[in-house]
Amino acid sequence: MFLTTGTYMASLYKMPISNLNGIGAKRAELFAKLGINSVGSLLNFYPRAYEDWSTVEKISDLQYGSMSCIKAVLATPISDSRISGGRIISKGMVYDDSGSLQIVFFNNRYISSMLKGGEEYFFYGRITTDSYGAQMIAPTFSLASEGAKIHPVYRQTAGLVSKTISNAVKQALSLLPKTVNDPLPQQVRDIFDLCDLKQALNDIHFPKNRECLEKARKRLVTEELVVLNLGMRNLREHSRGESGVKITKSYSSEFETFLPFTLTNAQKRAVSDCVKDMLTKSSAMNRLVQGDVGSGKTAVAASVCYTVIKNGFQAAFMAPTEILANQHFETFKKLFENTDIRVALLTGALKESEKKRIRQELSDGEIDLVIGTHALITDKTEFKNLGLAVTDEQHRFGVAQRAKLLGKGENPHLLVMSATPIPRTLGLIIFGDLDISVIDELPPSRKPVKTVLMSAAQRKRIYNFIRSEISSGRQAYIVCPLVEEGELDNVASAEEYAAELMLKEFSDIPVGIVHGKMKSDEKDEVMGKFASGEFSLLVATTVIEVGVDVPNASVIVIENAERFGLSQLHQLRGRVGRGEFQSYCILVSDKTTPTTRARLEVLCSTNDGFKIADEDLKMRGPGDFFGERQHGLPQMTIADFADTKSLELSQKIADYILFTYKDIRCDELRLLRAEIDRLFERGGQNTLN
Ligand code: ADP
Ligand code: MG
Repeated sequence: MFLTTGTYMASLYKMPISNLNGIGAKRAELFAKLGINSVGSLLNFYPRAYEDWSTVEKISDLQYGSMSCIKAVLATPISDSRISGGRIISKGMVYDDSGSLQIVFFNNRYISSMLKGGEEYFFYGRITTDSYGAQMIAPTFSLASEGAKIHPVYRQTAGLVSKTISNAVKQALSLLPKTVNDPLPQQVRDIFDLCDLKQALNDIHFPKNRECLEKARKRLVTEELVVLNLGMRNLREHSRGESGVKITKSYSSEFETFLPFTLTNAQKRAVSDCVKDMLTKSSAMNRLVQGDVGSGKTAVAASVCYTVIKNGFQAAFMAPTEILANQHFETFKKLFENTDIRVALLTGALKESEKKRIRQELSDGEIDLVIGTHALITDKTEFKNLGLAVTDEQHRFGVAQRAKLLGKGENPHLLVMSATPIPRTLGLIIFGDLDISVIDELPPSRKPVKTVLMSAAQRKRIYNFIRSEISSGRQAYIVCPLVEEGELDNVASAEEYAAELMLKEFSDIPVGIVHGKMKSDEKDEVMGKFASGEFSLLVATTVIEVGVDVPNASVIVIENAERFGLSQLHQLRGRVGRGEFQSYCILVSDKTTPTTRARLEVLCSTNDGFKIADEDLKMRGPGDFFGERQHGLPQMTIADFADTKSLELSQKIADYILFTYKDIRCDELRLLRAEIDRLFERGGQNTLN
């Protein structure tokens, strides 16, 4: 365990956690559960909160129910007694100059040997009372002679408590060499007033005071965002120069004649923004079309594809799920039915021979427009002359995947579509120099979806309502959340729930089920039957969330609504209200805490996706806002995407670094580069190759 001076953290990332004293194989497994596999990753396991022991209260001033810190002497040794069930209860009296208090511990055989009578300690815990007077229950403590401190609180797991983690971190910190090589060059730290890495690591875990903690946090957050910034820029820069795809004529008016409806003005604007980019700029188009669910982004993309194809190039349209790719394929096929455009579908679910054939035709140029999933970006897929790459539901893709699709052509045009509003500063990082067109208008004759919150006890009413909608010719969705393994079974699982509905409640109505465990061709079959009206009711897990378009559906019931994020609920709700019929969204939840209600009621009160995203951000905090990496960015350990100030600072620092060092591949930035690789690997994406 000897580390030479100047060793960088990198070697600690290779050192197994079991190298630390007191951590054997069993405990190491518990650490692994928290994602900690090495001494280095333990050092990056930052406290989830802190207990501030620097404000000491007098015993006589203590408030019942509050968490407090006292500095008191243990009057007598702790006495243990056994209570029912073989449990141990340990008690002792402590005093300061204002009064005395009992401290109580449960089931801790070692307490009596850890605390000594006559010794002064800090005790930190909740104050309660019983018939004998005030008590502090199971306080944490440390010797008064060690001084008042801010104590770290770590995320724990069964069998591994915060205190144990804290001890391990202490050991790990002591392993750091005298000087730790810092990924942020000294010059950068000086200019932007950031402390060095070793200081930051020490202070984020065991800060001497609030000020030290803030400094450490600032340093670590900034570094992480700088790393993100540089990584994203690196991903983007590889192409985006002069485009080899020359578009000379717009075909958007001609395209409009294929549509069964007229485009809204907002759609027309978005199309003409795109066409203008391609006609007038020498560099490739880089455009984000942002529009709320149901605003008609598909038609915009189709129009742009048409222009590019008529100019003699191929277009690729990538969707995040098989279901969506299929649906788009059907839409496009129909749309281009009476043209000479050859449309194909390429997804992982196709037979190998089929995939091979389509890939061949793509590279021969026999296919003009390919719709697909990630199958489009595998190495095997080649194009003859890709002129346009479209990604639908952009937030579902990693930035690296987008780059990969672009790499299939010679600097082709890029059109990304998203319904998720992204705060501006973050948008800059994700999209960089992307131009944005907003579709801020819904197609005419859309009626806003009516949303209500109901309890499970009202289920009968809900079913009756579904029945009445179905009998007037409409269709309905029932959405159940994904059930995680080992979870309590009071959460409805899609399969069981659907089976029950089919057998009992709706035995006379054709019900389809889609869930995550089905093969994609099975899913497609069910979705197809729902789209064609063969099924009147679809019971589904979240797989229907993005993009699915069945305008005849007028009701969506979302079970356990509290389990979803607001933006996700908004996406789900967007499955109805896509046609001329008045539609309804019924949120079912039995969680009646005021916060949950308030959250869900936001949805009942507005249909505006931007407003909802805003509320979501406010209420849940940024950590949860984007859900399961919905932004395509790697997972952060300490930084926070809603922290605009830090985002802006990191942007500035990244600019400075690139300006000063010119090339990210230079030696001074070696360690920073290693961090970029580490961050993007953690997110399952590779950057610097
Ligand atoms: P999203 O923006 O959520 O991807 P879609 O492109 O799937 O929305 O469009 C939603 C529905 O609205 C589709 O059924 C589509 O045919 C229809 N639609 C799109 N544009 C118009 C329009 N201008 N007028 C009427 N219906 C439209
Ligand atoms: Mg869509």
